[in-house]
Amino acid sequence: MAQAVVIGGGPAGLMAAGELVAAGHDVLVAEAKPSVARKLLMAGKSGLNLTKDESLETFLLSYGPGAEWLRPMLAEFDATAVQDWARDLGQEVFTGSTGRVFPKAMKASPLLRAWLGRLDAAGVHIKTRWRWTGWNGDALEFDTPKGHRQIEADTTILAMGGASWARLGSDGAWARLLQEAGVDLSPFAPANSALSVDWSAHMQPHFGAAIKSVGWTAGGVISRGEATISSKGLEGGGLYSLTPALREGAPLSVDLVPDLDVTTLQQKIAAKKSKTTQSQWMKKSLHLSPQKIALYHEMNRGSGLSVETLKSLPLSHAGLRPMDEAISTVGGVRQGALDEGLMLKSRPGMFCAGEMLDWEAPTGGYLLTACLATGRWAGRSAANWLARTA
Ligand SMILES: Cc1cc2nc3c(=O)[nH]c(=O)nc-3n(C[C@H](O)[C@H](O)[C@H](O)COP(=O)(O)OP(=O)(O)OC[C@H]3O[C@@H](n4cnc5c(N)ncnc54)[C@H](O)[C@@H]3O)c2cc1C
Repeated sequence: MAQAVVIGGGPAGLMAAGELVAAGHDVLVAEAKPSVARKLLMAGKSGLNLTKDESLETFLLSYGPGAEWLRPMLAEFDATAVQDWARDLGQEVFTGSTGRVFPKAMKASPLLRAWLGRLDAAGVHIKTRWRWTGWNGDALEFDTPKGHRQIEADTTILAMGGASWARLGSDGAWARLLQEAGVDLSPFAPANSALSVDWSAHMQPHFGAAIKSVGWTAGGVISRGEATISSKGLEGGGLYSLTPALREGAPLSVDLVPDLDVTTLQQKIAAKKSKTTQSQWMKKSLHLSPQKIALYHEMNRGSGLSVETLKSLPLSHAGLRPMDEAISTVGGVRQGALDEGLMLKSRPGMFCAGEMLDWEAPTGGYLLTACLATGRWAGRSAANWLARTA
């Protein structure tokens, strides 16, 4: 029985721990926070979107340049496998109208409880308030409530998450340790990020309200999801999928009437009576919500009513919100630093998994699915490596 250490008790780390204990190893999960999987629990607060019910090929499209890297891992643990896994933990799931899959309980806590119960029964030891601080030779070093500890592990899985929502544990501080060890890392950047907008006072009544049925465009990417107006700007899945383009500085525009073709819209504009105000007309003729009308006036000061301003309204903003607020981050351990089993080329026996790998995907269950799939893959690869090198 080999000693396996998993550093980070999020979904990727717990998945890896399950694989290693199933292969008969002594597994210790070292988690820096007072409890594991805090980000997973937070994800469940707004409805835990576990995965998206799509074919593998469609599913992979959401990972952009990272798709081919993740392909074998997602092929082995795809959207169907995620649903089976949740059911096996006693969590019924349902698929929403857009294909997003949620546990019936919506929250993460029942799933996490069942998962931790299973890992405990299998013999996984979880140590909380254990922060990995680097190496001393080959030994792993930890700050623990009982002081400094060193562990000689036969294999290690690093699953310390990305670099957002630091208060939940994923503070990205591990990057410095890996960089010093010569691991090739890509700098962190926000993925699935809200936008900062300096709203005028006219927008205040709409704070907290959603803008629905629009088409957001940036860098040639069109997104039909909704966004919520907040005091800080705009947030929500509709914009998150545009983060890669917005990060590159692509201009953002919004189609307020995506289901109306240009000819029909031209006819409607031509039929507008001059005594009707723009707002009245937009409400009555275009059935625009108060939020869409407010956004139109906010962003279109001066230009007249036209097909262009309604279908391609430029949205001026002050950039992405700070990275710590992002739902996820891109950057971290590059593919080139790892072999096909997610083992660090420079550190044989040490594997990486989850959001700390350099891939990104929009919200919609793609994040958790890839974290689970890479955690499982790293755990299996580590077990195979132990079998080969024992
Ligand atoms: C508000 C919010 C909502 C979300 N909703 C969804 C959703 O509905 N669907 C979806 O697919 N995704 C969602 N996500 C994203 C998803 O939660 C993350 O992508 C996922 O949790 C990442 O898993 P991970 O295991 O790689 O890392 P994490 O979950 O971040 O876990 C990493 C763990 O490592 C620990 N750690 C870090 N450094 C050390 C160290 N030095 N020593 C020991 N331990 C350490 C951390 O404390 C943490 O517990 C959401 C995220 C947020 C913030």
